[in-house]
Amino acid sequence: MTSFYKAGGERCGVAARPRRLVVRASPEPGESLWGWAIRLAGTNGYDSAYAIKSLVARASLGAGDGNYSGSYAQLINASHDDFARYFPDCRSAFWNGGELGIPHFYFSPQPKVCPVCLSEKAILKSVWGLKIWRYCPEHSCELISTCPFCAKPLVANRRGVTHCGNRLCDGNLSECVGGPTAAGIARIVGVLGDVAAGRWREQLSGLPRCFRSASLLDIVQLIFILSRPLLRVKNDSPSADVERERLAITEVALSDWPAGYHDYLERVRSTRFANIKYPTSGKSYIEKELPFIYRALLYGHTRISPEILRVFKHELACYAETRMPLALDSRFVITGEPSRWMTLQRAARELGFSRHKAKRAGREGAINIVAVPLLGKTRRFVERDHFKKCTDSRDAQMTEADYRVAHGLLPARSVKKLLRVGYPTIAALIEGGYIKTLPHRGRSWLCAASIEHLLSRLAEITIPMKPGCARVEICQTSCISSAKLTDVIECALAGKMSLNKKGSARRGLRRFWVVKDDLRRLFPEVLADFYTVEQAAQFVGLSGCSFRAVVRGGLLRFTPSPKNRGRRMFTRNELAAFGRRCVSSAELAAAYSVTKRKIFMELSASSARIDGLGQFRFWLRGRATALLDRKFRRLGSTNSRVVGQRGQK
Ligand SMILES: [Zn+2]
Ligand SMILES: [Zn+2]
Repeated sequence: MTSFYKAGGERCGVAARPRRLVVRASPEPGESLWGWAIRLAGTNGYDSAYAIKSLVARASLGAGDGNYSGSYAQLINASHDDFARYFPDCRSAFWNGGELGIPHFYFSPQPKVCPVCLSEKAILKSVWGLKIWRYCPEHSCELISTCPFCAKPLVANRRGVTHCGNRLCDGNLSECVGGPTAAGIARIVGVLGDVAAGRWREQLSGLPRCFRSASLLDIVQLIFILSRPLLRVKNDSPSADVERERLAITEVALSDWPAGYHDYLERVRSTRFANIKYPTSGKSYIEKELPFIYRALLYGHTRISPEILRVFKHELACYAETRMPLALDSRFVITGEPSRWMTLQRAARELGFSRHKAKRAGREGAINIVAVPLLGKTRRFVERDHFKKCTDSRDAQMTEADYRVAHGLLPARSVKKLLRVGYPTIAALIEGGYIKTLPHRGRSWLCAASIEHLLSRLAEITIPMKPGCARVEICQTSCISSAKLTDVIECALAGKMSLNKKGSARRGLRRFWVVKDDLRRLFPEVLADFYTVEQAAQFVGLSGCSFRAVVRGGLLRFTPSPKNRGRRMFTRNELAAFGRRCVSSAELAAAYSVTKRKIFMELSASSARIDGLGQFRFWLRGRATALLDRKFRRLGSTNSRVVGQRGQK
């Protein structure tokens, strides 16, 4: 140091050990310490700023107290406060932008200058050293890092503020111009300029209020955090202007808050991170989907102000709730606030339910369950507000028995006995709105009052029975017509059908009867020309068992019922054709007045035999009668029976 000082001092002809500089000037606001040193070195005739630096180092070494700001102040006979900002922790200064309080790795060693700023005021600003400060927010131009006169990069050690550092170059940097600001980053550059100048304008609309008090460090760190995941995959192309890309990504993420941020997260999710080393095994779903950004916000040792960090976490949680169904309940993990959603398992635990009971409660609408499929398994979530309503109500605290007594409820089992009907009928009555239900702890209960109301309404409209009319219970109406119980009740209550009462009140719904003719008129069977299995069996004169065997054996075609697909219907023509073609052993035995055994002995080896019907014996009518006529005497026509059966009805 001493030798350098001597060399500089003697060469420039300044007296030895000067404690004061001849030309004195305090640092300007925003000026870097190095810029100030270059400025003073130039005006005082020193060769470089290092001479100024060594003067101070020597002085403070002599004092032995390490009071750098005092030594600098002594140099220009100024106040100690003028330099205090450069030495926040009373240690040696970071000469290029140390007073900004931003870690040194956000600065680049390559100097940059705004020529327009230089022409207005010949000082070197601290913020120019930042990596992302590629554009001047005031003049909307690009900073220059290469001298336009000698085409060499600017260097730190130079003889003047407007000089490029090349000894052979005489160009004045304040006389040149930088390129224009690139498209798509003007607003974020403006925000940077405003924050550095300590003011706030609505450059990016809709940003939360906490951004108004943001520091330059906050914005710089945000730019690096937000751009990191998307730049990782782009670094393959070395020509890419990384800093400009950073600014562009941040501007998109911060514009139209929070829509821009959500779109940014969507973009990060859709980026494939296969070619980078980021271990995701064992990480949570949301961390796998949003690498870097999730870790940076949650665990990153950033010095971003807590308010801004909270805003970003809050929006991340909102994004997860709206667009990541698998991470519905992640708000608690991200922000520490209670999540709007929780897993069904947890909800069931808090309610004191078993898993099955909780699922049933979900099916019955007592709690609102959202199911999300995940790799073959299904995750189920419950909305906390809904769940809270379910648990907060007084009813939920009651025991089952108390609740039933308080609301006059019956289980379906008792209603079944009371009404003398089956569970499907009860379900139909509930669906039709005739019986009201109340859910409690995952079970449905039936209101006794609504059942009583239904029975009394039906009892009111009954009229005395007229003799000589065929009737049917209202629970049996579907056997002879297409009407269901609810249809009949609806018609009866609307006055379209008369209702008769028979028996005591204990018989439930079965004491109400309707006239068959009324029923057939209002709800006719599907088609007049079709026969049900029972009717068809009667038509061809067979028992139900043997008729079904005939259908199974394929001797008779059937048509599915248009109303009830499981029900088989038979046309009259088909049945008549079957009657003409086939005949049973029983019918032949009756016609010839012999035993069925004898018929079998005669015909089993003949061509009249029909196989594939199991124990039931059927024969081809023409061949069988021809064979039997030779052996026995026929009592009457075998065909007459078929016609006769239908005629009797
Ligand atoms: Zn400028
Ligand atoms: Zn030059």
